Amino acid sequence: MGSILIIGAGAAGSVVAKKCAMNREVFQKIHLASRTLEKCRKVKEECVSDITISQVDADDTAQVFRLIEKEKPDVVVNMALPYQDLPIMDACLATGVSYLDTANYEPKDEARFSYTWQWAYQDRFRDKGIMAVLGCGFDPGVISIYCAYAQKNLLDEIHTIDIIDCNDGSHGKAFATNFNPEINIREVTQRGKYWKEGQWIEVDPLSIACMIDYPLVGPRKSYLIYHEEEESLVKNIKGLKQIRFWMTFSDNYIKHLEVLQNVGMTRIDPVMYNGVEIIPLQFLKHLLPEPSSLAENYTGKTSIGCILKGVKAGRQASYIIFNVCDHAECSRELKAQAVSYTTGVPAMTGAMMMLKGLWVGKGVFNVEELPPEPFLDEVARQGLPWQAIELGPEAYQELAEL
Ligand code: NDP
Repeated sequence: MGSILIIGAGAAGSVVAKKCAMNREVFQKIHLASRTLEKCRKVKEECVSDITISQVDADDTAQVFRLIEKEKPDVVVNMALPYQDLPIMDACLATGVSYLDTANYEPKDEARFSYTWQWAYQDRFRDKGIMAVLGCGFDPGVISIYCAYAQKNLLDEIHTIDIIDCNDGSHGKAFATNFNPEINIREVTQRGKYWKEGQWIEVDPLSIACMIDYPLVGPRKSYLIYHEEEESLVKNIKGLKQIRFWMTFSDNYIKHLEVLQNVGMTRIDPVMYNGVEIIPLQFLKHLLPEPSSLAENYTGKTSIGCILKGVKAGRQASYIIFNVCDHAECSRELKAQAVSYTTGVPAMTGAMMMLKGLWVGKGVFNVEELPPEPFLDEVARQGLPWQAIELGPEAYQELAEL
């Protein structure tokens, strides 16, 4: 049916490549390119059907341009880092090829992610007649599509959304992050933020916490953080009055993060060390386990969903929509842990929607703007089944009162 170029052979990118290789009726040609060729080789060996690979530095638009010209993909999937979003989008524009990613752009020298930089490509993508699909991982991604599904099928008006994200797994390391350490630590150490009655309310990092009962996992301490899908859902879910994002962190994770921050290891400004300029957080990333190395012996589950409250047929109604994913099962299937599996499977499914002509358009789209049903049917078939359950009036009352 089509041809895909995947950029980034890390934890999540390797899941995209392996899953594409299991769906050859859609992805007839698969090319994986990344900064380190050796990582592409390892992924290629683990794919169930043959893929081609090459080295690329995706910070350099000219290199990506040449790669696209050579491979002639129908879609480019950015599974490298948010820093590469814009250079890859520029190369897509120059070659007239559609684009998909899982994380919005942030500049390297400022820990601030936002869709504004990518939304600014709207007219150029539309005029070129190509499509950019933004944020097609799990959150952003599947969660945003759950919200679109609820808006269309479950509630007449959605008034509040609480996105709840729990990794209840154990990788057995003293400290590790489940996706790229640099991006993860930049996200978590930012000030918290949520949206209420038309305004963004900022709070100190990790200063609001509560117990949340996660499906198939149980009550876990969860912290309010700012997450990128809030920025687009505020625009795309009509009548919304409040949106918040909650994530679990173990006491051990918080303890390590605090110490690392206190000693300056999470700084993103350059410091001189033995006559060489280094960025402490990039050095720390170099020392920490790679997220792709965590799968073996990872136990437990992720439980990620959203609680939506609003009005249906003139009465108050609320739903929870969620997926539960088991680390060990992901490891058995793809040698991946559940956080990279739940990112990579939706990215592959989004690319499949584009190649099958089920997601079509000209311009820049967040995933909740595209038809939710075909995606949700397919993502369930591909390993991420989901459930939507109507809640009683008392459910998640504590959360509602916060
Ligand atoms: P990894 O660090 O495991 O992988 C990133 C890969 O990108 C590495 O292989 C790296 O190469 C490669 N890369 C980095 N810079 C470049 C470059 N300039 N040119 C080419 N390749 C490059 O991270 P993850 O797989 O965990 O995360 C990948 C992305 O997925 C991130 O953007 C992350 O924010 C996003 N994500 C999204 C989620 C969602 O639900 N929406 C959840 C989790 C992650 P090298 O090996 O040489 O370092």
